[in-house]
Amino acid sequence: MRTIHTDEIIKNICEMCIESNLYLSKDITNAMKQAKTTEKSPLGCQILGQLEENMEIAAKDRIPICQDTGMAVVFLDIGQDLHIEGMQIEDAVNEGIRKGYTEGYLRKSVVKDPILRENTKDNTPGIIHYRIVPGEQLAITLAPKGFGSENMSKVHMLKPADGLSGVKEAILNTVREAGPNACPPMVVGVGIGGDFEKCALMAKQALTRDIDRHSEIPYVKELEIEMLDKINKMGIGPGGLGGTTTAIGVNINVYPTHIAGLPVAVNICCHVARHVKRIL
Ligand code: SF4
Repeated sequence: MRTIHTDEIIKNICEMCIESNLYLSKDITNAMKQAKTTEKSPLGCQILGQLEENMEIAAKDRIPICQDTGMAVVFLDIGQDLHIEGMQIEDAVNEGIRKGYTEGYLRKSVVKDPILRENTKDNTPGIIHYRIVPGEQLAITLAPKGFGSENMSKVHMLKPADGLSGVKEAILNTVREAGPNACPPMVVGVGIGGDFEKCALMAKQALTRDIDRHSEIPYVKELEIEMLDKINKMGIGPGGLGGTTTAIGVNINVYPTHIAGLPVAVNICCHVARHVKRIL
């Protein structure tokens, strides 16, 4: 049995909040660079150039890539042989977010109550998902999520008779409706199966997988490739101003479901697809 102190969790989450808002991961920066070489629209190319320049300035001057520094989504994979001492883990995660958003001068975007809407002024609480896994390590994934794109996401409770063609239609219609509002080029996370909340969670988790890594399930990999191709033929383009780069990645996760259902969740993310991982 290994022991870690929550001070360690606070320190890492604080650093991860800042790191993810200043620097995009390699898979995203590479895909954006690649898109500039394949984009057919001159205006689209110009927009991709501006987005690239924006990323470079953010990294050089240590300022956020986007003014919407997101709501902090945190996935914790906790080894069942790990003992965590100190404060309550949820409090530790929120303390890390509080410190990160304060010390990093990141915008505080969270309101305490969805109707009363008073800003909590420190970007807490985060959205925390826990999983107990084998081992004695703690894997933390932090993905600050902007709401321009979050607002364009959808859950579709399809019927089994809708089949794979219904799934494709649900994905493509959601992206089409998102259009320029999701700050394209987008990354599209999809969850198929499970139940209402499981498919939404899978879609969010899919957004934390590097976009240069396909699903290991052959038909899902094929679906990821097909959907990306079809999305890029929609013409929405960079910034929604037309072009051949509407998305830079489609990641799909699947899970068993009920004989009577076929849930599909489509979680849209913009090109500021922030996700960082650390193992403690
Ligand atoms: S959707 Fe993304 S790029 Fe658009 S404002 Fe939000 S975080 Fe920024």
